[in-house]
Amino acid sequence: MSSLDLHSDVVTLTRALVDVSSVSGDERALADAVEAALSGLGHLRTQRFGNTLVARTSLGRAERVVVAGHLDTVPVADNLPSRQVGDRIYGLGACDMKGGVAVALRLAATLVEPVRDVTYVFYDCEEIEAEKNGLGRLSREHPDTLAADFAVLMEPSSAQVEGGCQGTLRAEIILPGKRAHSARAWMGENAIHAAAEVLARLAAYEPRQVPVDGLVYREGLNAVGITGGVAGNVIPDECRITVNYRFAPDRSEDEAFAHVRETFAEYAVERRDSAPAAAPGLSRPAAAAFVAAVEAEPRPKFGWTDVARFAELGVPAVNYGPGESALAHTKDEFVEVAELRRCEERMRAWLS
Ligand SMILES: [Zn+2]
Repeated sequence: MSSLDLHSDVVTLTRALVDVSSVSGDERALADAVEAALSGLGHLRTQRFGNTLVARTSLGRAERVVVAGHLDTVPVADNLPSRQVGDRIYGLGACDMKGGVAVALRLAATLVEPVRDVTYVFYDCEEIEAEKNGLGRLSREHPDTLAADFAVLMEPSSAQVEGGCQGTLRAEIILPGKRAHSARAWMGENAIHAAAEVLARLAAYEPRQVPVDGLVYREGLNAVGITGGVAGNVIPDECRITVNYRFAPDRSEDEAFAHVRETFAEYAVERRDSAPAAAPGLSRPAAAAFVAAVEAEPRPKFGWTDVARFAELGVPAVNYGPGESALAHTKDEFVEVAELRRCEERMRAWLS
């Protein structure tokens, strides 16, 4: 079994984590190594749920915070083992998000008496279907393990604080028509032609920009798919347009759907799937103290992330971690040594 030395410096530890391959669904070796390393620490109580690990201090502090990261990566792309070139560490997961996991593990190992009680969570299956997500499983089956005043997900954010996240909803707009032979088109009604009106409305749509807790969330309503057509000689009797609505944290999933429905009031609209938005909760004391300690200007997160799982449990959460999110999932992903060190130092300041 690979062994991890949590007392080695954050660069060495990041490389050691990258070098234990942990593609989604195949995290056992890394989870074993992390469990073995955490279990040796007398100040933490470590529990394992599948390939997800939870380690917590119990010092009776006034506040409890979660520091979390996923162990898995996207598939290998000829980018293992790790290598260091100048001030950058390259390799699968270096950016997303073994650099952040290394910082969290360093804190877990070295902060014996943090000023806030800390629950460290290292989970599996973040990069694949949502139902397999280790954090989601934990929030459904053992929500007590995630109870906290505030959570930090150490996803790559260039050491900036990204608060909350937008919600996402997919719906289909169904356009009816009347089938006919295309040689006698006047006897039918073309459902695909009816799409023009819907597409024009989407193109002209003016998305809201919504301030929540001082951050401005920019919404979007876009066509992301279209289907229709029966055969090369048939006037089609149905066309469906899939729209994706990215909505600000001031709306629930139901309110988001109601908005899509009223935007296309004269059409049949079917809801497909959705995930809630998360408010940044930056006005909470634990969050405000965090923002002050890491000395970063909070910005809104565009996209859906696991911070929403904490929001559903009533725990405000932010993304904060080393690495540039635009490099995530790229073959040449890397993390800057300076950012690793800065994140470790700032997180340590917050917890000390
Ligand atoms: Zn990630």
